[in-house]
Amino acid sequence: MSTLEKLKASPRKSLGQNFLHDNNLARWIVECLELQEGEHVLEIGPGLGALTEWLPLDRVSATLLEKDRLFASFLQERFSEPSVEVKLGDALQYDKRALFCKGEVKLVGNLPYYVSTALLFHFSAEPCPISRMVLTVQKEVGDRVTASPRSGEYGSLSVLLQRRWHIKRLRVLPPSVFLPRPEVDSLVIELRKKRPEDVPEIGEQRFEKVVKAGFSERRKKLTNTLSKLVPSRAVEEALAAGGLSGLSRAEELSPEAWVNLAMRLGDFCSVANRDLRPEGLGQPRAEAVVPPPRAAAVDPRESLQVVDEQDRPIRGVDRATVHSQKLLHRAVHILVLNRAGEVFLQRRSYRKDTFPRKWDSSAAGHVDEGESYDACAGREVREELGLIAEPVEIARVTASEKTGQEFISVYLAQAEEIVDLNEREIETGGFFPLGIVDEWIESRPGDFASGFLECYRKVQARLGAAKSDR
Ligand code: SAM
Repeated sequence: MSTLEKLKASPRKSLGQNFLHDNNLARWIVECLELQEGEHVLEIGPGLGALTEWLPLDRVSATLLEKDRLFASFLQERFSEPSVEVKLGDALQYDKRALFCKGEVKLVGNLPYYVSTALLFHFSAEPCPISRMVLTVQKEVGDRVTASPRSGEYGSLSVLLQRRWHIKRLRVLPPSVFLPRPEVDSLVIELRKKRPEDVPEIGEQRFEKVVKAGFSERRKKLTNTLSKLVPSRAVEEALAAGGLSGLSRAEELSPEAWVNLAMRLGDFCSVANRDLRPEGLGQPRAEAVVPPPRAAAVDPRESLQVVDEQDRPIRGVDRATVHSQKLLHRAVHILVLNRAGEVFLQRRSYRKDTFPRKWDSSAAGHVDEGESYDACAGREVREELGLIAEPVEIARVTASEKTGQEFISVYLAQAEEIVDLNEREIETGGFFPLGIVDEWIESRPGDFASGFLECYRKVQARLGAAKSDR
């Protein structure tokens, strides 16, 4: 008697229930994840556990997301290991931020086809804790995700995903390996997160806006489709500067060419009220388009305010000397909270000379020679987050080895959205509930810049109180 019969269940078409009944294929799909000891697996739509049963649950932990109540309780019984957590609900509503405290996370699933594109966007959106995905999707979606320029399948889905992920077609699966048989072929695809050095940098939202507008009418020229966002003359100039014809259409540009185009369109497509533009760019100009220069993340000649042991200003000294001679100096950390009481954390760029790729306060930076702490806090939120705000000082941290010889003034600010991250300084970022941050710090303190940990401890009580007032 089959498991379905035992459960007195019949497959629900509305939930995309087609069960994989080929064990060899199921094992092969799990093997493609190349799971290592201590990693965490997130499985979407485990159903009756066809893939789950091949997970090495003595070596890895797993979260199973299943929308069907009957299957969720079946899975709970079948996989009762303490390393497994079954979550009943819609995977599209799953808050993947909770996974940052798990370290290396990999995603697997034979996706329900009615919602596979939305799931791909949901689980790949930044900030994303997932490093690799092996997913079965309907072949048509797989074709679009993996498509190359100038093919009929190439579209915004291809461009947006391929910018951050190396994507491979692994295998076509015929309908016969599923029960009931779906009407179409399926494709197993692999997505591996690119190293940040290999990801062309551009503000996420700006990029998405340009790409989606560009592909909104595939057959039209970009000078037409993008004229919804910017003057068509600017599009022509930006195309010409990238060596592209003014007659180009969306499907002819590679993901890299799209990034270059969106960069050249620069301020015309600004998504925020960011008033400080990338260095080298003035006010938006309708006449000419200037590509933003790729500035280094830090300028070693920057003159920092050096202070004495009582935090009294002495003189300005260049950044390299301040750090090499461990001179006492000043810094600000700003924690931006939203109305839900979540704090915005940034992941520092790989280019940073200190704490590259560590998670840090919303914005932080050195106080320049002659600059006040308050002015510096306002400048940092503007430069790094594109926010016009007046942060409020709430704590001071004394200089020590742990703060890298910095006297730190800690500020709070409020914003509901950060849409214009400075991509030269920040790899990614997002709002996180304090409970998640607490658990994350507890389980993986090494993921954070040490200055942030000092500041966060200092304001934790204050933030906790603010949370309980809500
Ligand atoms: N992994 C199983 C297999 O390979 O046999 C089942 C795959 S079946 C194609 C899709 C599974 O996703 C079903 O178990 C279905 O109940 C579940 N599902 C459908 N929509 C879902 C959603 N929005 N969130 C989570 N699970 C969902």
